[in-house]
Amino acid sequence: MRFASPAGWTPLSPDYDPWDPIRSLQRYGRHRLTSVELTVTHLCNMRCEHCAVGDSLTMKEAPHLPLNAILRRLDELEALETISLTGGEPTFREQTVREIIVPVLKYARSRGIRSQLNSNVTLDYERYEQIAPYLDVMHISFNYTQAADFHRVGFARTGRDVSPDASARMYERMMDNARRLSEGGLFVSAESMINFRTHEKIVDIHKLIVEMGCKRHEVHPMYPSSFASHLPMLTREQMLAAIDRLLDERDPAVWMLFGTLPLFACSDDPEERRLIRRLRTEPNVTVRNDPDGRNRVNVNLFSGDVYVTDFAAIPAFGNVRDERLEDVFERWQRHPFQQGVSCHCESAACCGPNLLVSNMYYRDVDFRTRRAIP
Ligand code: SF4
Repeated sequence: MRFASPAGWTPLSPDYDPWDPIRSLQRYGRHRLTSVELTVTHLCNMRCEHCAVGDSLTMKEAPHLPLNAILRRLDELEALETISLTGGEPTFREQTVREIIVPVLKYARSRGIRSQLNSNVTLDYERYEQIAPYLDVMHISFNYTQAADFHRVGFARTGRDVSPDASARMYERMMDNARRLSEGGLFVSAESMINFRTHEKIVDIHKLIVEMGCKRHEVHPMYPSSFASHLPMLTREQMLAAIDRLLDERDPAVWMLFGTLPLFACSDDPEERRLIRRLRTEPNVTVRNDPDGRNRVNVNLFSGDVYVTDFAAIPAFGNVRDERLEDVFERWQRHPFQQGVSCHCESAACCGPNLLVSNMYYRDVDFRTRRAIP
């Protein structure tokens, strides 16, 4: 089956990434809510050692809120440009695919809104084939060079033994699904973390992602939140070296998107500024500003709770049952935590750090007093 965006839609590319909050900031002169992420399940067939939502995964879950009520809240957002669906593994239950995912994606198409599904693509291909005709980006995690890595990382927190053979079959299915979806024309974006396991093999991971036909390789450092909070952290030097190596050896035909980097154009460190310049000038490479709380909120489809960031441990900031999303968002823009990182340097196309990055590396820094160094 072939999957294609509707005729006339601008293709996603380094020049057009509607998830980047810098676009809405440039367009409206202030942060606007242009992006919504929906948590559609807390179930997952895996328990990755670094899972950023690991603490919220469950074995059973309650019914969803009525979808119509959620869509009416989305109707209120005139500037909405993107919807992301996340979990858990969103496709874990076939019923969620039929009753939530496909209707939300059809809704997005009807309004010209871009969509992304975050999936491990380890289940039957037919599940993804139902979704792909209405989807813009299939976002997968890929941090492996062989089945043994997948086994070590993907089931670390299951609390039961998963046999290497069963895990190897899932690994093969994941790669096969990614390949088939890519061959069908779907934009598959594979995300890797730079962490203690991957930093020395990041180039080999990149090569496998290219072989699967992915259109984009997304790279983020791992941060110590949720399940990852007990894992060893890299030094900044190790992280910078991994990024340089990847830039040296990547396939230049594949879009590389870096995100949540702890490096900024206002850094006092010339080495960090050199790397920022390199990232800005390499062809087919982009650095996405962090969307959380800047142009995006997350809505939990079970409780209706609205979160302004997936990473930093900030509790629900409102609830869709009794508040408009725009109102929650505007209240967050005035919050001291958000204001402390609310800087903007047009020359660097930068709108400041993610809260977790700021807490981890820049505790005493007021970014509003800093400027990008040319
Ligand atoms: S926007 Fe903020 S973080 Fe980015 S370069 Fe300027 S001062 Fe630094």
